[in-house]
Amino acid sequence: MPMMPYISTRGGGSAPLSFSDVLMAGLAPDGGLYVPVRWPHMSPADLAALRGASYVDQARQIMAPFLDVSFADAFESAAQKTYAPGRFRHAALAPLVQIGPNEWILELYHGPTLAFKDYALQLLGALFDQALARAGKKITIIGATSGDTGSAAIEACRNCRNVTIFILHPKGRVSEVQRRQMTTVDAPNVFNLAIDGTFDDCQSIVKTLFGDTAFREQVNLSAVNSINWARIAAQIVYYFAAGLALGAPARATRFAVPTGNFGNVYAAWCAGKMGLPIDGLVIGTNRNDILTRFFETGTMKPDSVVPTLSPSMDIQISSNFERYLFERTNRDPTSLNALMSDFRTKGSFSVPPDMLAAARADFTAVRCGEDETLETIRRTHKNTGMLIDPHTAVGLHAGLAARGDRSVPLVALACAHPAKFPDAVEKATGIRPPLPDFLNGLFDRPEFVTHLANTPDVVRDFIVRRTGDI
Ligand SMILES: *Cc1c(COP(=O)(O)O)cnc(C)c1O
Repeated sequence: MPMMPYISTRGGGSAPLSFSDVLMAGLAPDGGLYVPVRWPHMSPADLAALRGASYVDQARQIMAPFLDVSFADAFESAAQKTYAPGRFRHAALAPLVQIGPNEWILELYHGPTLAFKDYALQLLGALFDQALARAGKKITIIGATSGDTGSAAIEACRNCRNVTIFILHPKGRVSEVQRRQMTTVDAPNVFNLAIDGTFDDCQSIVKTLFGDTAFREQVNLSAVNSINWARIAAQIVYYFAAGLALGAPARATRFAVPTGNFGNVYAAWCAGKMGLPIDGLVIGTNRNDILTRFFETGTMKPDSVVPTLSPSMDIQISSNFERYLFERTNRDPTSLNALMSDFRTKGSFSVPPDMLAAARADFTAVRCGEDETLETIRRTHKNTGMLIDPHTAVGLHAGLAARGDRSVPLVALACAHPAKFPDAVEKATGIRPPLPDFLNGLFDRPEFVTHLANTPDVVRDFIVRRTGDI
């Protein structure tokens, strides 16, 4: 296995880094995102050989070219731990369920926290553990969450001996299921901080603490949000798994993805770049429709965030779009930096018409309002008996609105279990979806949470007292 080197989209830094380097670093020091220097390619024969393989075998083959030799054993052990039967509560890990003629739902909610983020974060936790044990290091992870990322990250790190994790959530502003999934974890290295403020306040505290170099070095700070390349790499796998099940390499698949930070749909694009036959990627956005507006106009301009039924996509800056933009500039950091600098200083950037046309050839973006979200949940239940969550509904609505050639299979991603968002599902169908059995008792367990003021200093002091110098 040759080493795959990684570079920053903004062209900074000196020597290219390895997979384990970018795993630990998260964001590049120049503010850019890490990408592999080249795209590995799977031939039709490689794909055919993967048909029918277990998820863990597919993950091993698909992710291998992104790793470096010295990390192969660590990866093998982490992949076994994550994707061998047991941790995901479905024997197929990412099962396809048919909902219409040549239309499918890819259920990505069988992991421990019932959202697709488990597929990458469970692996990330195991990889961190391996890499840190080997280096004899400890790290501190801090993150802000509006719901799903927090519980998935805590669940991934709760058993990591060398990781202490602090998750900030806006007090009283996450759903009860989401909050309890975080706060009922009883582990000495997990700290839930309920902040008096909004999600944006939590995010801003995290950014302030990352900007404090002395603190960052003192506690060895790291991040687990979706700018981490390892998360993207792990998400590429289920696109291959679905495409292979539906006839790749002989037949192409169309995917519809509910989108916020552009991590998940970018992983689909990467799968296509690596040789998976894809016939179009459909982006579903809720009323926070910055991406849909970009594909309409060629201008990326944030608006204010409005709360919706699909809160995990209530976001106005899609960080991972920078990775795609980098490709569209033919990997030219100078052009990319010019766009990013416009975004920072003028509050928006616009791409030239040829670049917009190329982006429109890869993606179709569709916005989905609140009524359409509820209507999609209701209609899916009426036609199939299946309950889908509001995020899944946004993606499915978009996929059906941009259906195209009906001989191409359409796969809509189910990114969260309906029981995570019971109010919206009940409003649409009259049925309150029950939590899976393994979460029985979630509402009875004690909660571990510290209520803190909306001030970076207070949070910093709390963290230093719990970690000391590490
Ligand atoms: C995180 C999340 C999304 C958005 O995914 P991105 O990778 O940020 O585009 C959509 N739906 C659910 C349920 C999520 O948890």
